[in-house]
Amino acid sequence: MKGWHIYTKCVQEGWKPKNGEPRVLPIVQSTTFKYDSSETMGDLFDLKTSGDFYTRLSNPTTNAVEAKIAALEGGVGALLTSSGQAASLMSVLNIARSGDHIICPAEVYGGTFNLFDKTLREMGIDVTFISVDADEKEIQAAFRPNTKLIFGEALSNPGLKVLDIELFAFVAHKNGVPLIVDNTFPTPINCRPFEFGADIVVHSTSKYLDGHATVLGGAIVDSGNFDWAASGKYPGLTTPDETYHGLIYTEKFGRAAYITKCRTHLMRDIGATPSPTNAFYLSQGIDTLHLRMERHCYNAQRIAEFLEGHNKVEWVDYPGLKSNRYYHLAQKYMPNGTCGVVSFEVKGGREAAARFMENLELAAIVTHVADLRTCVLHPASTTHRQLSDAQLKAAGITPGLIRLSVGIEYADDIIADIAQALSEL
Ligand SMILES: *Cc1c(COP(=O)(O)O)cnc(C)c1O
Repeated sequence: MKGWHIYTKCVQEGWKPKNGEPRVLPIVQSTTFKYDSSETMGDLFDLKTSGDFYTRLSNPTTNAVEAKIAALEGGVGALLTSSGQAASLMSVLNIARSGDHIICPAEVYGGTFNLFDKTLREMGIDVTFISVDADEKEIQAAFRPNTKLIFGEALSNPGLKVLDIELFAFVAHKNGVPLIVDNTFPTPINCRPFEFGADIVVHSTSKYLDGHATVLGGAIVDSGNFDWAASGKYPGLTTPDETYHGLIYTEKFGRAAYITKCRTHLMRDIGATPSPTNAFYLSQGIDTLHLRMERHCYNAQRIAEFLEGHNKVEWVDYPGLKSNRYYHLAQKYMPNGTCGVVSFEVKGGREAAARFMENLELAAIVTHVADLRTCVLHPASTTHRQLSDAQLKAAGITPGLIRLSVGIEYADDIIADIAQALSEL
């Protein structure tokens, strides 16, 4: 049979019941699993056989959702984490240790920037931030002998800058390291980084994958394409692991070496595991991901076009607009649309932005994006309120910038709300 379209995969992948089993993914809310002998369980501990024995490492509900996400991205395996932050951290720690170095565009999500700039440095992993617009020479110049990976965002939060995945993957591979792509904003519906050479994908599933602002979560997906042994830079994957009686991940697990080590070594030691109930909620969200993304993108495009033509709006940032500097890259990597987030500025700066937002009735002021309900955030008076105007500018945020996360309501209703809020200015 020909492979399913990704819309079908959203609905059908993951839990596949056998004869007499529940049609709907069951929530196996149990920390542990019973075995008839210690020997059977010992084999599980030694990774000689596979099976669930403790939910920190694996659980049937969680495993089904991992299989669903792996299928959507086209990977050999996935691991769910308790948040997107945990996924980003573990994706790096799996292949970089104290004394190593990583490369990352500076325009990534603020939480990722802080994690790399502060916590990873404190752990002895150095980072060089480059521009997301860097060319081949500039990316190459950031490399050092101890560089272990490049990490970037397919579509940056909140700047909506599109990563040239093929270029970054090309330079990474030339240097014998993988490219990790955070695919949170476009989701696998709109962008599949593995098809352009990325090796590992991470997600904050708290955003569109859940989509209902219900559960925090993260995911790491392994393409299975990176040759760790040939690179020679990853002893953690290619030399014996004493905690598993000298097992070598690349020899025992082949293409799934990276994602297996991430679970059996890092998740065992760190324990950033999602609850089975949260995994179930996430699965419910993904069932309709394809429908929601289409509507988010349709609505966002309509609203971006409306804002672009409005005389009280200073500028609009949305990669679906022909005037946007990332329009062509977005057409290449996300031809069906980007996501529902639109950034813009109203005339009158910080004070006008605050008044505009208070005027809104349908759109709610919350610290979140990617919810099916339209929401707005004014970074200068909330997430970045401690910064001066000069510091805001350095962070790429103007005092009047508004981040609008367009939901899946009827587009004309959202536009009418924005229009009335603008008319009061
Ligand atoms: C929200 C977000 C994260 C962090 O995810 P949490 O689930 O909030 O921990 C990481 N990357 C991107 C692009 C995000 O938008």
